Amino acid sequence: MKKNLLIGLVLILIAFSLYLIFNSRIENNENDTLVFLGNKNIAPIIYQEDGKAKGVVVDISKGLAEKMGAKIQIEATDWTEAQNRVLSGEADALLQINPNPEREKLYDFSDVLLKSEFSIFINSGEFGIKTIDDLNGKRVGVESGGYPYYLLNNYDGINIVLIPNWDKAFQMIKSGEIDAVVVDRWIGEYELSQHRIAGIKVVEEPIENQYSRIAVKKGNDQLLDSINDGLQALHEDGTMNKVLNNWSGEQVVYLTERFITKSIFYFVIVILLLIILISLFWMNKFRKLSIKLESDVMQRTKELQDINEQLQQTNKKLQQISLVDGLTGIANRRHFDSTLKKLWNVCKRESKPLALIMADIDFFKHFNDTQGHLAGDECLKKVAGLIKSTVNRPYDCVARFGGEEFAVLLYNTSEDGAEIIAEKIRTGVANLGIENGDRVITVSLGVASLIPNNDNTPEELISAADQALYQAKKDGRNKIKKNSIQ
Ligand code: GH3
Ligand code: MG
Ligand code: MG
Repeated sequence: MKKNLLIGLVLILIAFSLYLIFNSRIENNENDTLVFLGNKNIAPIIYQEDGKAKGVVVDISKGLAEKMGAKIQIEATDWTEAQNRVLSGEADALLQINPNPEREKLYDFSDVLLKSEFSIFINSGEFGIKTIDDLNGKRVGVESGGYPYYLLNNYDGINIVLIPNWDKAFQMIKSGEIDAVVVDRWIGEYELSQHRIAGIKVVEEPIENQYSRIAVKKGNDQLLDSINDGLQALHEDGTMNKVLNNWSGEQVVYLTERFITKSIFYFVIVILLLIILISLFWMNKFRKLSIKLESDVMQRTKELQDINEQLQQTNKKLQQISLVDGLTGIANRRHFDSTLKKLWNVCKRESKPLALIMADIDFFKHFNDTQGHLAGDECLKKVAGLIKSTVNRPYDCVARFGGEEFAVLLYNTSEDGAEIIAEKIRTGVANLGIENGDRVITVSLGVASLIPNNDNTPEELISAADQALYQAKKDGRNKIKKNSIQ
């Protein structure tokens, strides 16, 4: 019984001890959670996003918590409120604060937390401003109550302009309202990239370097030591550099690069669109041009066709008034008529006989009907050529009298002489051997001759030859008939 009681007591004791240990852990945890506060308006050093504190010193503080072996709750809040909360003991430390004589009365400061380069931001086209002395007589924008305000107040020649926000401040530089802005380079560059502001540059040489620190309430040496040890450890194992690189790389440069990439992308799109538009414009123009060209060509072709037609008609007329028969190449009817007149007069004067042979192709209609008009033309050419080659004297004239009828005028030739020529023609044509059905092409010829005088006429000579030809036809064709005229 006693033994059971003893075991019970021991168990109760163990449970109580466990409760105490557990409880003290919770209390310890609560007590160990440090609250660090920072100014919520100094992105990218510290700022608020989605209700959480973010920024360079927030990441440093996270590393610090690890090194200190403590839990640190970081808040980005109103700066004045933050300072009061640390003074009242509600919070433990202030992040990113620069010591000054007033503050040193209230707080103790850690080793360096972050280096701030207070730099001059100017228009990209401005080359005259390189140092703080160059700001003499210039209008320079600063944030109210910030360190640059305090810094520039020492220079009488500088016209300080208080700026409402960074976006506005940079726009004021661009519009020429102010000449420069002085701000922590971290903040200036971040704001430029956040607001996608181009045309502003930073003067490489800062006008002053400041080293911000962590402040604890005056007298809190234990926390300060722990913070300083943590900071040193952060430097030693390279965590500090890593955080700084991350931020200068990702938040500032990366955003700018992303912006540049985006800008290039849009630029390329715009250029492509422009190229497409210009191509469409030219394609349309070429299409219109080619349509116009096509219609012009059609118009010209039509004009050429018209001219060609006119030319053919003119040629026809020319042939009519010319002396050569267009098909056979021998003298035409016009030529024959004028030659007859001339020879008539010559023979009359000389009292010499003028002979006329009229030759007509036999059954030529049949030839045309069976072999076609083109073959008929070829036949006419051959017969004309044959007659022409039969007559050699210079004064003689071989002419196409009309259709398939030929006339041969022979100067100073009697009926008998003409008959000899006629016979040569008759046999010559037959010997051409041009088939015409079951016979060959032949000619019938009428011959007449007279000595021109005042009592007879050229028409009588033609008529006489014609009548003889008629007789030859009547007599069976391929014949020669003479018609003697007194
Ligand atoms: P005939 O023996 O009685 O003279 O009979 P034909 O058929 O020769 O006479 P017709 O007067 O009946 O026919 C003459 C033909 O000559 C009709 C015409 O088509 C043809 N002719 C006339 N001039 C030309 C020509 O320039 N070229 C061609 N191919 N034929 C022509
Ligand atoms: Mg005839
Ligand atoms: Mg005939």
